[in-house]
Amino acid sequence: MRHSFLITCGAVLALMMVTVIAQDPGKKETMKTQDTAPAQPEAKVEKTEAEWKAQLTPEQYRVLRQAGTEPAHGEVYKRFKQQGGGTYYCAGCGAELFSSQHKFDSHCGWPSFYDASNNKNVILRDDLSHGMIRTEVLCAKCNGHLGHLFKGEGFDTPKDQRYCINGVTLLFVPEGGKKPETKAPAAEEKK
Ligand SMILES: [Zn+2]
Repeated sequence: MRHSFLITCGAVLALMMVTVIAQDPGKKETMKTQDTAPAQPEAKVEKTEAEWKAQLTPEQYRVLRQAGTEPAHGEVYKRFKQQGGGTYYCAGCGAELFSSQHKFDSHCGWPSFYDASNNKNVILRDDLSHGMIRTEVLCAKCNGHLGHLFKGEGFDTPKDQRYCINGVTLLFVPEGGKKPETKAPAAEEKK
C-alpha cells in the first residue's frame, strides 16, 4: 500500500517537473533586435503552418500562431526595460506596430505601450477564452497574436489603456537604425 503511494507521489512529481521544464524555455527567450528596419508588407502575409514553423522560434510560433502567452518577467521583459528609443515591428511579418515613445512601465511583467504607433497594422477583437472578456491584439498583416488591450486601469499615461504585448512577437530596431529595406524597382531595359 505504502509502496503504491510512493509510486503515485513519484509520478506526480515527475509530471510537475516535466511541466516546469516545458515552461522554462520561454523564460530565456529574448526579443529579436536588428539595425535595419524590415521592409513593410504591402499585402496580407499568409503562410502555411510549416512555413511559420520554419521561420519562427518554437516560442514565437507558440505565441504568434497559437495565441500563447510568454512567461511574465522573463528575459524578454528584462531586455525590454533596458532598451532605449526605437521602433517595434512584428516578428512574423515585419509590419510596424509600436514605438518606444508609447512605452511605459506597468510592472505587469510584459512589454506595455499606451498606444500603437501604426494603428493600421494592429487589429482588435473580442477574446472570450479562459472565462474572461478581453480584447485580443493581433497584427493586421499576418494575423499573428500579439497580446491583449486593457482600458481604464488608471495608469498615468496620455491614453488610459495598456497594450500588454508578448515581447517575443516583436522585432526591435533601435533609433538611428537604417531605413526599411526596399526592393529596387526592376530596371526596365528599353531597347
Ligand atoms: Zn505580422
